[in-house]
Amino acid sequence: MKQKRQSRRAGKPAAKPAEAPSNDQEVKQAAPATAEPVVAEPKKSPERWVNELMIRAARDRASDIHIEQTREGLSVRFRIDGVLHAVVAPQKALESAIVSRIKAMSRIGADDVAPDGRYGAIIDGREVDFRVSIFPATYGEAIVMRILDRIRLLPMDQLGFSPPALKRTRDLIARPHGVVLVTGPGGSGTSSTLYAILNALADEKRNIVTIENPVEFDLDRVRQTQVNPRAGYTYPVGLGKVLRQDPDVIMLGGLRDAEVAGAAMGAALTGRLVFSTMHADDAPETVTRLVDMGVEPFLVAKGLEGVIAQRLVRMICPACKHSYEPDTWERVVMGLKPGQKLQKGRGCTECNGTGYKGRIGIFEVLPINDEIRDLVATRPHAKAVRDLAGKAGVATLLEDGLEKVKTGITTIDEVKRVTGKPMK
Ligand SMILES: [Zn+2]
Repeated sequence: MKQKRQSRRAGKPAAKPAEAPSNDQEVKQAAPATAEPVVAEPKKSPERWVNELMIRAARDRASDIHIEQTREGLSVRFRIDGVLHAVVAPQKALESAIVSRIKAMSRIGADDVAPDGRYGAIIDGREVDFRVSIFPATYGEAIVMRILDRIRLLPMDQLGFSPPALKRTRDLIARPHGVVLVTGPGGSGTSSTLYAILNALADEKRNIVTIENPVEFDLDRVRQTQVNPRAGYTYPVGLGKVLRQDPDVIMLGGLRDAEVAGAAMGAALTGRLVFSTMHADDAPETVTRLVDMGVEPFLVAKGLEGVIAQRLVRMICPACKHSYEPDTWERVVMGLKPGQKLQKGRGCTECNGTGYKGRIGIFEVLPINDEIRDLVATRPHAKAVRDLAGKAGVATLLEDGLEKVKTGITTIDEVKRVTGKPMK
């Protein structure tokens, strides 16, 4: 299901009750007008419990619902802003009925082994798609319902780029051809960044074609397609077809192997601007990983124009943000002057007591300069690329994150959590 082009403010209380879902009338009947907590009332049916859980998850801005059978009963958690939070679970007697209900809704058969399903609903006027994955675990089945309405189309200057990183990114996407990779682990905001870039490029003068898995957001003036391996529409096949569509700009959902990565570099050498994603720790490692994957070093050296590595950090809740005196360790890590303070959230009703609300990107934007191109041909170690990036003045993910700590956007703990980097 495609997402509606609607701007929403994260966390804003929903005024409208849920409307009729696309394939289940009961959500409408069960939908409460207010975001009441899910409570295991004795009279609540499994259907109603599941419906209310989905509505609450959507309103709490959760990206995933985790439901696990444990020795004590069901454990239910929401992932909000990248972190899991427990929510009130139903009574044990409802356990198997709830699991069956979710399977039936997402059209998963009783005999499927580790199945996947989908379920669409309209909640507060928004189309919300749930991708349901079920996994056999020790005490029964573990269910993860991913909520696919989280992509919001933001302009590039609202993603969290620092002014120099934004300028570098704008320069990269203004190049006539080459491959630009946006890298980070799942859930690090790479899709939002790619959509923002394509949207910035979409005009009458350019033919933009995508091959995605899945299409997460509909863009105007962009021809979007979705891989379908069962029908033979894989990334290599798709790229072959797309190249016959006379594209100026191509977006590929991911460079998973040397074949696709090599084909992307080849497309760049024939005059196309190609965007894609990859998994790598940081921008310099992305460069060396392409070569390690088996792409010819000369193709990487010629085709790659830049790498944008990113993570998402939680932002300090504006409602309970306050200054505090940093401790010695924080002063050393941040290089603070005497008297300089930092900020954090106290925890309030606006942020469910977490002190954080919403997320923003931290970035490392590495344009491939001539020095790096020459180095790539020698199959370098990531450290050698990192040294050249530092010489070119590129801020690392950690440095960009700590800058956002100084300006009171996020905290040291949060930067530490998402970068996984040891600090001094
Ligand atoms: Zn707060």
